[in-house]
Amino acid sequence: MPTSNLKTQSKLPKVGTTIFSVMSQLATEHNAVNLSQGFPDFEPEQSLKNLISECIHKSYNQYAPMPGIMPLRERIAEKTARLYNANYHPDTEITITAGGTQAIFTAIAAVIKEGDEVIVFEPAYDCYIPTIQLFGGIARMVQMEPPNFKIDWGIVKKLITNKTKLIILNSPHNPSGSILSEKDIKELINITKNTDILILSDEVYEHLIFDGETHHSMAKYPELAERSFIVASFGKILHATGWKIGYCLAPTNLMTEFRKVHQFNVFSVNTPFQYAIAEYLKDENTYLQLGLFYQQKRDYFAKLLQSTKFKLLPVKGSYFQTVSFAYYSDETDLDFAKRLTIDYKVASVPVSAFYTNGEDYKLLRFCFAKQEKTLELAVNNLLKL
Ligand code: PMP
Repeated sequence: MPTSNLKTQSKLPKVGTTIFSVMSQLATEHNAVNLSQGFPDFEPEQSLKNLISECIHKSYNQYAPMPGIMPLRERIAEKTARLYNANYHPDTEITITAGGTQAIFTAIAAVIKEGDEVIVFEPAYDCYIPTIQLFGGIARMVQMEPPNFKIDWGIVKKLITNKTKLIILNSPHNPSGSILSEKDIKELINITKNTDILILSDEVYEHLIFDGETHHSMAKYPELAERSFIVASFGKILHATGWKIGYCLAPTNLMTEFRKVHQFNVFSVNTPFQYAIAEYLKDENTYLQLGLFYQQKRDYFAKLLQSTKFKLLPVKGSYFQTVSFAYYSDETDLDFAKRLTIDYKVASVPVSAFYTNGEDYKLLRFCFAKQEKTLELAVNNLLKL
């Protein structure tokens, strides 16, 4: 490849390689147990894998319709009605996407213009802010603090201006494992009442919720649903993050705009997988059991971690456990996470990476979507600290 001397101006000058890739790469180089990136180290159900190969052999191999195949959209409509008592029309209000990330990107692209302001709660999943900036939007950050990572609605109110176009929410929350409460929902309803503010609700961990808590989907509240894009991911539901299939729910007027972008972005998503997932989801236990399944993993991991130097923060949902090492070391969380990977063979993600200002509360995020033996191996290594 010849070297290029053309002048190019980066649209995202501050963006480098994500911390997830950096830590996973370091984990591989040092043969460390990888609890950094959020993915299961176990397989999707065999019956689902069989369905996928059946669908390929049945020749469901050409373009799917732009919004997704109808049986899958119907299944999602049934699921949403059953769980949240909300009726989303498969024709006009549900679109299948290439994962949650594409749904988030497309929703932001569809509504954010130069100068629009977007409220983002930090720590934040890494794709929100760069996507806002790509379309000329301005992210207004609201900082959430450990140990409970609650939203300070007083700060949100002060940040709202006539330029506020969108509020991005994520519950259950990555990286903290916190969830929105009923009080949060009331505040959100009050703040958005009589405004045109939209909501992008990242609900990819909707089923991973513990201790009998309820997931407050925007779909449940008509005042919020009317202004919300709701994002879901089959990667999390099916233990198959590599399949990159998800979906978006939104009222017709918002979904119309969403699809205008979607059709030129991916046009349509992987056909045989959509048919297989539509068939698989006929059994609602496939997703209803996920909360208990991951709660057991959370509890098992927490029990093992009790004997280490870490202090555990509360986790109400998601598949992440955050821990504090503040009592043990005053290194930066990035240095500590790297040292843990290299010297103790356990990879994590430093939580400062989720704050634009790099706020360092001396926290690490571990992913516990792992087999028990993986969690045991990791904690055995951590016990050497
Ligand atoms: N949102 C959050 C909060 C996530 O943690 C993830 C996955 N790590 C996504 C969105 C993206 O989901 P997908 O893999 O389906 O693109």
